[in-house]
Amino acid sequence: MSTNQRVFNFNAGPASLPLEVLEEIRDNFMNFGGMSVLEISHRSKEFGKILDDAKSLLKELMGIPADHRILFLQGGASTQFAMIPMNLLNGSAGYSITGYWAKKAAAEAKLFGQVNEPFSSSDTNFNKTPVNGDIKVSKGSSYLHITTNNTIYGTEYNEYPETGDIPLVADMSSDILSHKIDVNRFDLIYAGAQKNLGPAGVTVVVIRSGLAKINHRPLPAMMKYSTHVENDSLYNTPPVFTIYSVMLVLNWIKRSGGIEGIEKRNLEKAKLIYDAIDNSTFYKGTAEKMSRSIMNITFNLPTEDLEERFIKEAELQGLVGLKGHRAIGGVRASIYNVFPIEGAKALAEFMKEFERKI
Ligand SMILES: *Cc1c(COP(=O)(O)O)cnc(C)c1O
Repeated sequence: MSTNQRVFNFNAGPASLPLEVLEEIRDNFMNFGGMSVLEISHRSKEFGKILDDAKSLLKELMGIPADHRILFLQGGASTQFAMIPMNLLNGSAGYSITGYWAKKAAAEAKLFGQVNEPFSSSDTNFNKTPVNGDIKVSKGSSYLHITTNNTIYGTEYNEYPETGDIPLVADMSSDILSHKIDVNRFDLIYAGAQKNLGPAGVTVVVIRSGLAKINHRPLPAMMKYSTHVENDSLYNTPPVFTIYSVMLVLNWIKRSGGIEGIEKRNLEKAKLIYDAIDNSTFYKGTAEKMSRSIMNITFNLPTEDLEERFIKEAELQGLVGLKGHRAIGGVRASIYNVFPIEGAKALAEFMKEFERKI
């Protein structure tokens, strides 16, 4: 299949990359001082510039304050589930349980201390997120961990909990850069790149510098935030090509109107599909309206057979990756930052047509 026959990729991750960025990678692939980008040293001046650009673009786009450090680490968001409690948990921590990934994060923390659950929506199959006042963090907690967007259940926080002096830690793997946030309210933000920032292989961590100095227990060097802060993400060989790709995606986001432009488009994309759900009695959204995600839209059809048929027929029309996660079933449309508005329009049209035909 040639590049002008690209499908609309609704997969939950890895996700779409901008065609422009893919072409940039192709066109400049060999142009790194007589080498390809896959071959350059992580200590070269070429990579030094890539890393600096990636950091300054992220800083500018997210409005990251001077006191926060930006790290590019490996092992995915799942390694952060463990690194966070290893480094920061001393006694107890709060975990807001809003879905599959929140539970996984909490399970890792239990290896290092007591986990309190000041909020859980497990009773209602994770169809909602907390509003302010729902979460009371116990005094003396090392931190409160939240998952800002719940990729599998299609919910997202509308407002973030007030934690006072207690550090707020957030897994933003599936909604980083999707809308404006006040980074200063967060002490640690992390996100695997493969949903909103680029290809798989790197995890962005934004950490308040004081937090990176905490030292509760002896840890291997690779597991300590201080190691990576002190070495500017170059303690060991970083994934050079992935960081390069992330830098190009960040540049593309900047060219596309920055976070304001992306947020506006994300809201338009989500509205197209939610309207198609709300204007029908055939499709039924799984998330409470107040908690709906603008990144992952989850819904059911009247029967599983119809869902299967819907997903198959959509695929034949170039709408790929709509099958819901096995934990919840149904249909899921993942429409991350890079996903084009044309794809959301095409899905909304397909939904109307499918319902009419049935
Ligand atoms: C995808 C996802 C993860 C897992 O990320 P890996 O990089 O594969 O470890 C964690 N949290 C959330 C919210 C996710 O969407």
